[in-house]
Amino acid sequence: MQPKPIPALTIQELVQASVSRAKKWHGGSLNAWSLSDWACAALGEAGEVCNVIKKLNRSRDGVVGNTKSADELTDHLADEIADTLIYLTLLAERADIDLEAALIRKFNAVSVRHGFPERLSNGGKHHEL
Ligand SMILES: [Mg+2]
Repeated sequence: MQPKPIPALTIQELVQASVSRAKKWHGGSLNAWSLSDWACAALGEAGEVCNVIKKLNRSRDGVVGNTKSADELTDHLADEIADTLIYLTLLAERADIDLEAALIRKFNAVSVRHGFPERLSNGGKHHEL
């Protein structure tokens, strides 16, 4: 018997779970923080991404100073990228932006502008023209 495939995570599921959890942290509303607060949180996490990459660069270049292996740093990088994305979902929600729609619109606009065939659509599957 074949294992049942696990459905892929969607942007909407990420946003809904992230918003639900953040509301518990912030007294029931994302409005407890301003856009600047959410942006600082997101960019703080993006700074952590860059800090891990700095350490991966040390590893690449054989520079001393790291206390973690490159594999451990890559795992850490994944965590920080995830933290950044989670905060970006909250920033978008705080600004009343439909992040999924924005991703589709912006991705497709860039593809059109540069003549690439890749397009996103609401079903989550990308396609080429
Ligand atoms: Mg972090």
